[in-house]
Amino acid sequence: MTAFSFTVEARDGRARAGRLATPHGAVDTPAFIPVGTAGAVKAVTCRDLVELGAQIILANTYHMMLRPGDALVAELGGLHAFTGWKRPFLTDSGGYQVFSLSGLRELTEEGVRFRSHLDGTPCFLSPERSIEVQMNLGADIVMAFDECPPWPAPREAVDEATARTTRWARRCRDAHRRDDQWLFGIVQGGVHLDLRERSAREITALGFPGHAIGGVSVGEPKEDRIRVLDHLDPLLPEREPRYLMGVGTPEDLIEGVARGVDLFDCVLPTRNARNGQIFTRRGRLAIRNARYRTDPRPPDPDCPCPTCRSASRAYLRHLHLAGEMTAAVLMTLHNLFFYLDMMRAMGQSIRLCRFGEFRAEALRTLAAAGESARSRDRS
Ligand SMILES: [Zn+2]
Repeated sequence: MTAFSFTVEARDGRARAGRLATPHGAVDTPAFIPVGTAGAVKAVTCRDLVELGAQIILANTYHMMLRPGDALVAELGGLHAFTGWKRPFLTDSGGYQVFSLSGLRELTEEGVRFRSHLDGTPCFLSPERSIEVQMNLGADIVMAFDECPPWPAPREAVDEATARTTRWARRCRDAHRRDDQWLFGIVQGGVHLDLRERSAREITALGFPGHAIGGVSVGEPKEDRIRVLDHLDPLLPEREPRYLMGVGTPEDLIEGVARGVDLFDCVLPTRNARNGQIFTRRGRLAIRNARYRTDPRPPDPDCPCPTCRSASRAYLRHLHLAGEMTAAVLMTLHNLFFYLDMMRAMGQSIRLCRFGEFRAEALRTLAAAGESARSRDRS
């Protein structure tokens, strides 16, 4: 199938802007992938996502295989038909979730035995089973089943997980048989640069069309993550997409793009929206704060999203405190728009060779933010 391609169309420093074509449409990169854990991005509809400009969303293999089950999704035509999202889908491998269930799992070379967090049913995930589930789900981009070590972990444990990730990546590649899907490899290695380097060499040698950087955003210091990205940049194939998994804050996305990353996913904008935290160009805003009780301004006065065009901070605060579902809907719409719009702005700045200015300015306002918002709100 030739529907897939990835083209880097512009560069500014190490930042890249390009286009990822899939059988369900194209994704302009750098891109943020909203997380639709159980087949839906919480609190919003497919129509909303299209309106916000989302070009790709993620569904979690672990959650979908447990409920409603990958066989059912396959019977109903795969994720696209089942959910109504016609644009590209990405599924993760389930590895991250099963390794987070530390007390409930048993790891062997064959795979991982675990109990469902829903009802305790014994389950098994292996490279072959993860790929089978992902072929049933039918996303455009699917991920190799990797071992994601926790942080902190002894170096020997990270070393072993990294080596196993390579062996499992080979099994995933051999098990994958759908030519309307792109299977990405995942580089592990924790915060150890030599292990990252070894992993990058072994995984890229397997010939995947794209690569992810896994085992980040598991609690490690931000400086370590940046060092890993700096180190991996020259080791990953220039012409293939790079995906930083599970990251992160607006600042993290900017720093990732600055180091050659093309794709990101994170639950932050959606999860935080449900907890009443709003991302703005001038930092974050906790809507439950008393200072917003009578604030007639939209969440972000510079934002053209549907929420900022109609809702005041006072109204959102009221809805949030009253436990109204609409609070989550409105704040999710804004937070996702903020993330998606920031990615578009980054892409544009790269194409204009002005990413350096964009980055400095964005980081300055995001940091000054909390501060100025507080002093302004006090007055
Ligand atoms: Zn907005």
